[in-house]
Amino acid sequence: MPTCQRCEEPAVLTSRKQPFCKDCFIKFIRGKQRKVVQSLNIKDKIVDVLVPISFDLSNTSYVSFNNAIVLLDILINFSKSLYKSYFKITMLFLVTAESSANIKSFYTTLKERYQFTNIDIKILDLMAFIRNNESLYNINVHNNRATSFPSVHKFESFEDYISSITNTSTREDLLFNIHWTVIKIFAYLHNFPTVLYSNSMGNIATKILSNIVKGKGIEISQILEESQTLEIADDEKKQFSFQAFYPLKDVLNTEIFQYIKLLNLTDLLPSDLQRQYEIINDEETGSNNKILNVKTATLNQLINEYFNDLEKNGYSTIVSTVVSTGSKLAIPKGELKECPLCGFKMPGGASKWLDHITVNSPCEDGESPSPSSSENHNPQLSGNPLDICYGCLVSFDTAGEKFSWPIAEPVSMSEKEILNEYIISDDDDE
Ligand SMILES: [Zn+2]
Ligand SMILES: [Zn+2]
Repeated sequence: MPTCQRCEEPAVLTSRKQPFCKDCFIKFIRGKQRKVVQSLNIKDKIVDVLVPISFDLSNTSYVSFNNAIVLLDILINFSKSLYKSYFKITMLFLVTAESSANIKSFYTTLKERYQFTNIDIKILDLMAFIRNNESLYNINVHNNRATSFPSVHKFESFEDYISSITNTSTREDLLFNIHWTVIKIFAYLHNFPTVLYSNSMGNIATKILSNIVKGKGIEISQILEESQTLEIADDEKKQFSFQAFYPLKDVLNTEIFQYIKLLNLTDLLPSDLQRQYEIINDEETGSNNKILNVKTATLNQLINEYFNDLEKNGYSTIVSTVVSTGSKLAIPKGELKECPLCGFKMPGGASKWLDHITVNSPCEDGESPSPSSSENHNPQLSGNPLDICYGCLVSFDTAGEKFSWPIAEPVSMSEKEILNEYIISDDDDE
């Protein structure tokens, strides 16, 4: 190993083609967060931040956990250097009833390690999103038209609900939309001025590229926007705003792993995730097979794998170029409304636009179908017409016939009770 370029000590790793010693590498990663920390909203000496952790449906849940652990370590370290103010960190775990057990053990280990008291944990069962079966509407997408009617399907649990969506990529999209919505509502109900997402550069690049591929480009600027808002029904201000940051936006996936390894943060991972971590680490040294099955992988997983390969082969600048290009996108001007499915702002009338550019019915020689015949006689088109965004029209076409959704209405105060009902644990220290 060559010597560290910054201090001439023996280097322990190479990142972005630069040799680093342990101390300089940790300083390098932590230094990238300084700008974010400086722009945080400090109210009455307290820096109150919400750190949500959401799991995907694949065997890569350790990614969210790893990122969150690195972010926590950096925040706790920063809080020691804050003058006259301090951090109060609330971690929000979005789980399904089955996955909550490990989190409590994580919390105990976390407190033992850092002796940091201003950390709180909330575990929210995603069933809160469905609330009750009565609020669900069956959504049908056919011939560029979406319709909704009260759902006849009953879902026993969140797993039951999410597995009713047959296409795995669509399921993944829906899960993201659910996480995104629930985090915003939680931030509003508990009045958090700041939400810190722990996505790494690779995660963000994946999201940008997959959104473009799926025709959801309009979401990118809204996801990366620093000022987030939520429409509120019975609040005088009608809108709740908070800051949203991605402090690990400049940190590569490989750097997350290296940071965890150098600081022995693996102890914090719940045991099943530790195993996943070991597998992927073996993979990095080339001694293990890839854990991703290309046939069953979702689009996001494939794109993520692509960015990981780029990083490992010395092309990390491509990852950062995708992120910085995506960050330059702006929300389109003009009148926008919220898509009732994904909750993102959209210019209405995607159906008409699609009609305009596509041909849906096969054209046979000599006999052109009457324009209304296919629409009027299609039983699938019963129900109320729903104006949804282009991305949702395209992706929910394959959601399956049971696809149901609580049609979004502005958030009201009664959501507080609903959401609180689904807080599994509330280990408040105060
Ligand atoms: Zn050094
Ligand atoms: Zn949508």
